[in-house]
Amino acid sequence: MQGKVILEEHFAIQDTIGDSAGFAPDAVWPELESRLFDIQDRRLREMDANGVEIMILSLNAPAVQARPDPKVANDLARKANDYLAEQVAKRPDRFRGFAALPMQDPDMAIAELRRCMKDLGFVGALVNGFSQVGDEATVAYLDAPQYRPFWAEAEALDAPFYLHPRNPLMGDGKVYQGQPWLMGPTWAFGQETAVHALRLMGSGLFDEHPGLRIILGHMGEGLPYNMWRVDHRNGWMEGHKYHKGKRDISDYFNENFYITTSGNFRTQSLVDAMMEISSDKIMFSADWPFENIDHAARWFDACSIAENDRQKIGRLNAMKLFKLG
Ligand code: MN
Repeated sequence: MQGKVILEEHFAIQDTIGDSAGFAPDAVWPELESRLFDIQDRRLREMDANGVEIMILSLNAPAVQARPDPKVANDLARKANDYLAEQVAKRPDRFRGFAALPMQDPDMAIAELRRCMKDLGFVGALVNGFSQVGDEATVAYLDAPQYRPFWAEAEALDAPFYLHPRNPLMGDGKVYQGQPWLMGPTWAFGQETAVHALRLMGSGLFDEHPGLRIILGHMGEGLPYNMWRVDHRNGWMEGHKYHKGKRDISDYFNENFYITTSGNFRTQSLVDAMMEISSDKIMFSADWPFENIDHAARWFDACSIAENDRQKIGRLNAMKLFKLG
């Protein structure tokens, strides 16, 4: 399929390259490092070779979310966003940008989101899960009350918000102790991010701000497969109100969420997601440079779905959501 749009695709700057160093064996680190720094060369060749017209770029992870000092986080976000805006300006026909945001300080995050959307022409924001705030061990999830003004601004700016994974802190992830193979994309990213998304859904946030659009990668981080169980636990027990939202969790998932295929190139999983959230809410993505664009495209271009759905998932949904037309 030609004309595809992909949107969980990362780059790094010198200040954040170290954040990705742990995610590749030493032998392939030079390759990953060069992929992260490149924007205008190999990245465009990969897009050309695989029918990708537009890539929405975002900073690597956890980066800004792992800088506990709000001023340091804000300076880093602004630097990365300015750099990204320069790079997008070189090829506005092929690239767009997601804002990195200093969620350590909601007022700074609001100001930076506004700057990125209004002055830099970005199409939304990508945030790497919880933020460490003040010190390394203190974390803030985005359902916390201090973030409600931020969400109001995201809704007012019509800014889609990509909730991207990060690992839990070692002290908080005891189930993973002694099992480093489970960290990162294998399992911990998905579990951490799925729970974070459920926290948002169960917080009443989407009753207050029904216009918010949240994007999850990796085929929805397992949520489509488990959504029925979340809403139907212990079905015979009446009057079991167990979260703060006014509606069922799946109502928020279906109305306020989009998912992408990043790093999860599996037809069985895609079909399940299509049956839960519909092909109107799924967008093709790769997760470059951690996954290969050719692996993603070869799977997606040939997978057994209707051509109408392929067009929506591969291009049309993103064109509409990000107003790329
Ligand atoms: Mn990613």
